Amino acid sequence: MPRTSKRISSYKQKKLKAQESSCHCCGKGDLPFAWRCRCGFTICQECMDENVWGMSCNGITWECPDCSAQNGFGNQ
Ligand SMILES: [Zn+2]
Ligand SMILES: [Zn+2]
Repeated sequence: MPRTSKRISSYKQKKLKAQESSCHCCGKGDLPFAWRCRCGFTICQECMDENVWGMSCNGITWECPDCSAQNGFGNQ
């Protein structure tokens, strides 16, 4: 039993990691750094730079286009 559940969780983690590391905006994967929302939305630094005017109104927080949550720039 423990061996089976361990295998499943490591498979899950691998899959999750792959999803998390690709930008939802440009689709680029294997990002060294990316902004993430709690809903799973991921955006790379490049796309954030391009879209910051539309995603942030104060330079302190950015609004997730998927779930409209406010995410802090310094809170990663
Ligand atoms: Zn991107
Ligand atoms: Zn979100």
